[in-house]
Amino acid sequence: MKIFNTLTRSVEEFVPNDASCVTMYTCGPTVYHFAHIGNLRTYIFEDVLEKTLNYLGYSVKRAMNITDVGHLSSDSDSGEDKMLKGAKRENKSVLEIAEFYTEAFKKDTESLNIKWPEIVSRATDNIEEYIKIITKLLSMGYAYQSGGNVYFDTSKLKDYYKLTNHKIDEMVTGVREGVEEDSSKRNQADFVLWFTKSKFEDQTLKWDSPWGVGYPGWHIECSGISMKYLGEHLDIHCGGVDNIFPHHTNEIAQSESYLGHDWCKYWVHGEHLNDVSGKMAKSKGEFLTVSLLQEKNYNPLSYRFMCLNTPYRKVLVFTYDHLDNTEQAYKKLKNKVKSLKKEGEVDKEVFDTYDNRFKEAIGNDLNTANAITLLYELLKSDVNDQTKYALVESWDSVLSLDLTKKEDVSSIVDISYIEEQIEKRNRAKQEKNYALADEIRISLEGQGVYLKDTREGTTYEIKN
Ligand code: AMP
Ligand code: ZN
Repeated sequence: MKIFNTLTRSVEEFVPNDASCVTMYTCGPTVYHFAHIGNLRTYIFEDVLEKTLNYLGYSVKRAMNITDVGHLSSDSDSGEDKMLKGAKRENKSVLEIAEFYTEAFKKDTESLNIKWPEIVSRATDNIEEYIKIITKLLSMGYAYQSGGNVYFDTSKLKDYYKLTNHKIDEMVTGVREGVEEDSSKRNQADFVLWFTKSKFEDQTLKWDSPWGVGYPGWHIECSGISMKYLGEHLDIHCGGVDNIFPHHTNEIAQSESYLGHDWCKYWVHGEHLNDVSGKMAKSKGEFLTVSLLQEKNYNPLSYRFMCLNTPYRKVLVFTYDHLDNTEQAYKKLKNKVKSLKKEGEVDKEVFDTYDNRFKEAIGNDLNTANAITLLYELLKSDVNDQTKYALVESWDSVLSLDLTKKEDVSSIVDISYIEEQIEKRNRAKQEKNYALADEIRISLEGQGVYLKDTREGTTYEIKN
């Protein structure tokens, strides 16, 4: 398998530390609000990566954090704790907010067929881990106490910017933008490992530590959770591109200083989903969530299909037009698969030829767009239906588009609805509105209801 590694800025052959078990860490959500569909694009790409590894024969141990403390409004350690902001907004406690939005996030992942990682750990459940790492960093001289906080001293590293390859000057300018200067830092790029001084007196989550009562910085959470569950040598670490700096840069700095050796081999980042006005945010414009799409009657899997049709390293711009077109294409694709007759034998040779091409596509830096093109090519081909069906079923273990999922149609389609639609179609035909008549027929087929026009009238058959 080949994958783009941000660390080396090239597509590399994937060679895990231990081929019997690939370790993978993905930065989880900050649970102060709903995830927007941009955040979920990143989780979709990470899901595809894990399932691709499985498809290519690797077993994967994957961990993800739930950030419920320490992520300040700015990623560069300034502003209010996002969790506190959420709690104030809704007049609830931080714990209530965390629980509610963790559940909401879980539901979103379910609607999008994103597998819940094997290990999911809350930042607040691992405080002793952060204290252990910070204590060692202080004793080794990589960290210092100042103004009540503990900071990581970035000047102690030869190559603090190795993940970004950015010139230090550019980054420093980046850090300055819109961020208040913290006069307790020795160097502009230094970051907080442990806060004891909060500007906000109502910071509710606090723990005792050797440096006073306080709370961890955001970056230390991911290093701590990753090393605790996945060990000292990590294969893959993922996130969205905004995580490259400062979050992942800081994770590398503190983890490698603590360990005394290289930590993670492959850094894999997904590009953003933007809206037409630019960056997607939770505070501006329409807050695009999975439940909003559902309220508008979209199938969340149409959004997953939209993401898979664009390579994960390309910016994707969200518009409802784009989603409408994708939803139509998705329905047609499902209908096409549903119409395959499950008769005859699977042609093993043909299966392997197509399956190898599928593996080549997804194994080539997760080219899901090419994998979907191959899927269309297969459906159009003269390969027998049983082989087509077996291939689609197998590929859907990666794509997760429910292409062959058996829905109990009789329980989801009620009879009066079908009769109503048949009436509507008959009227459309009388008015020579054949486009509408076709649309109704296709839509019913999408729900597993097949119409038959006979001399006695229209009958129907429900097929699973
Ligand atoms: P957060 O909950 O803010 O920590 O973000 C969760 C994940 O979503 C991180 O991996 C981010 O890199 C990612 N992310 C944030 N904004 C976007 C976006 N517009 N498109 C794709 N991923 C994003
Ligand atoms: Zn992280």
